[in-house]
Order: sequence, then C-alpha cells, then structure tokens
Amino acid sequence: MPDMVRKRILVTGGAGFLGSHLCERLLNDGHDVLCVDNFFTGTKDNIVHLMDNPHFETMRHDVTFPLYVEIDEIYNLACPASPVHYQFDPVQTTKTSVHGAINMLGLAKRTKAKIFQSSTSEVYGDPHVHPQREDYWGHVNPVGIRSCYDEGKRCAETLFFDYHRQHNLRIKVARIFNTYGPRMHPNDGRVVSNFIMQALQGQSITIYGDGSQTRSFCYVDDLIEGFIRLMATGDEFTGPVNLGNPVEFTILELAQQIITMTGSTSTIVLRPLPQDDPTQRQPDISLARSALGWQPDVALRDGLEKTIRYFADTFVTEKGVIDGREKND
Ligand code: NAD
Ligand code: UDP
Repeated sequence: MPDMVRKRILVTGGAGFLGSHLCERLLNDGHDVLCVDNFFTGTKDNIVHLMDNPHFETMRHDVTFPLYVEIDEIYNLACPASPVHYQFDPVQTTKTSVHGAINMLGLAKRTKAKIFQSSTSEVYGDPHVHPQREDYWGHVNPVGIRSCYDEGKRCAETLFFDYHRQHNLRIKVARIFNTYGPRMHPNDGRVVSNFIMQALQGQSITIYGDGSQTRSFCYVDDLIEGFIRLMATGDEFTGPVNLGNPVEFTILELAQQIITMTGSTSTIVLRPLPQDDPTQRQPDISLARSALGWQPDVALRDGLEKTIRYFADTFVTEKGVIDGREKND
C-alpha cells in the first residue's frame, strides 16, 4: 500500500450482517479495524474468519454507554435492524439509535474522526412519494410498533446534522434500503432470509398480505461499495443519500423466484399484513449516482444464488435444517 494511509476505523455493530462485510472490506483495503458489538443480533461466527488478522480487533461493548478509543473514522451500524429483533426490546432499540448516536458523535468530536451513520429507508415510513428522494420528509407513525426503530433513526439523523452544524463534525449519512446477502440472520424474520429458510426446508412460504407490496433488494457487496464511496467524499458532502437497488419487485415475485431457484416443493400461504407495513418502497438513487458515481451492479438472481448457497451451506444438515449458530456468544 505505498500511497495509502492506514486508518484506525471503528465499526459499531461490526459482528452483524452488514458490519461483518464492512470490516472485511476495510481490512482488505489495508486499514486497522476495531469491531464493537454487544452481540445482540450479531455473532462471532460472522467475524471468526477475521480474528487471525493482526489488524482486526473486537470488543464487546454496548454503544448506549460511552466508549473511549482513539480512531480516525467511525461507521455507526449498531442497531437491531429487522422488525422481530427491534421490537423484542423497543426501549433498548430507541436507546441504541439515540444514546448510541450521542456517544459515537461525542467520540467523533473528541477524536476529530469522520463519522458515518447507517440510517434507513424507514425514515420515509409508509411513503406517499414514490420513488423516495432524499428531500421527502416521510410519513411515519410516531406511536406504532415500528416507531422505536423509525423514530430512533430519524432522531439519530437529527443529532448527526446538529453536531455537524454546531460542532463542525464531518458526517456522512446513508439511508439504506432493503439489503440481503450471506450472513443475514436466519431467524430475523426479514423477507429474503425467511423465504430462503422456508424454501430450503420445504415449509410454506409465508406472504404477509396479498404479496402485492413492493421492495427493492440490494446485494450486500454493492451496498458496502456505496459506504466506502460515501465515506471518501469531500467534507462538504454530508448526505443524507439513498443507497439501495432501484429495481422493484413485489413480495409475491420474490417468493416465486426463490421457490424456482431452490427447486423447492414449498407452496405459498397468505398471512395477515403486519401493522404499518409499507405498501411500496423504491429508492431514487440519482444523488448517489451523481455524488458518489455509485449504482448497484448485482442482479437479484445473482445475489440470491450466493445467498441461497450461504444458507444451504451454513444451516442445512443431512437431517434437515438447523440453526447451527451459537447465539449471543
Ligand atoms: P444486524 O442486526 O445484523 O447488525 C446490527 C449489529 O448491531 C449486530 O451485530 C448487533 O449485535 C449490534 N448491536 C445492536 N445493538 C447494539 C448496541 N446497543 N451496542 C452494540 N452493538 C449493538 O443488522 P444489519 O442488517 O447488519 O444492520 C446494520 C445497520 O444497518 C443497522 O443500523 C440497520 O439499522 C441498518 N440498516 C440495515 C438494512 C438492511 O437491509 N440490512 C436496511 C436499512 C438500515
Ligand atoms: N414479508 C412477508 N413474509 C415474510 C417476511 C416478510 O411477506 O415471511 C413481507 C413484509 O410484510 C414486508 C416485506 O416482506 O412487506 C419486507 O419485509 P422485511 O421485514 O424484510 O423488510 P421491511 O418491511 O423492513 O422492508
């Protein structure tokens, strides 16, 4: 790495799905990585392959408590991200977003580190504008069962922009749309992992509602490339910037695609739609295209192939399918 400066980079939530891919990428790019995680939804299995790397360190820590380390950059990813996980302890979810942001912003202020926030398309709620652009303020229920996550993330964005205005912090805010890939949690209830696990076990594929609601699915490698490009922008660029795949599918189409690709005998069953479940979601990524020169490359079929292989290799035994993970280890 002759021309490159090795940075000390903190990744909160580094043992999670996205965090583990980000740690891997940053190490490959030649940086020192400190992965901080309380292992609520993340697992050491996601980062075990990095443990022998002398430039990788991991620390069990809850971001709702202050953290004193010396670093050059922070990627703040710590937060349960799927409805089953963030609704398990909603108060802790809000604390993680809000107190976690305050603690990480305080750390960035003291160390003069550049700081990235993993915000979410959920800040748009059940949107009335389609596709969603960054200047849309959203349509969010403040007192519903998704609010601990949605409003926590909205408040975190507010804190990021106030620290930027008030303390000149260098901030980068990404609004992430549904992302999938290897190391998704098998039981997180998210649609891609649910459908793949159900298909691999020959169980019924549970569509909530009639399956006409839409989502757009970004493969994890594309998303991580977006993170790196956003972090590398000049100080004047703060975001928020949408990162996601603009190709939109109905949930029914996704189910059919996964059944076909796994060769499964599963059939589709309809279940009630959860409260406040957005009916459509698709990012407008014009800003990411112009400011970051970024757009996703991986087609759903190719990304699903890798994801299905991961789930089959990790969780399927000769006797059927098990969750082979040591949870909360
Ligand atoms: P994940 O659950 O796999 O990862 C989150 C990680 O944060 C886990 O390792 C978990 O143990 C850790 N964590 C949770 N609370 C913590 C706390 N208080 N202190 C320290 N660590 C804590 O989820 P993910 O999909 O990798 O999501 C990562 C980030 O990206 C989250 O902030 C999420 O809101 C955001 N995001 C993800 C998606 C997506 O589609 N995956 C979409 C939008 C936003
Ligand atoms: N969904 C579904 N069956 C499942 C899991 C999810 O039909 O087994 C639906 C869910 O109701 C939502 C969409 O798939 O309309 C995406 O759900 P997910 O939880 O993955 O993400 P989010 O709702 O946060 O976009």
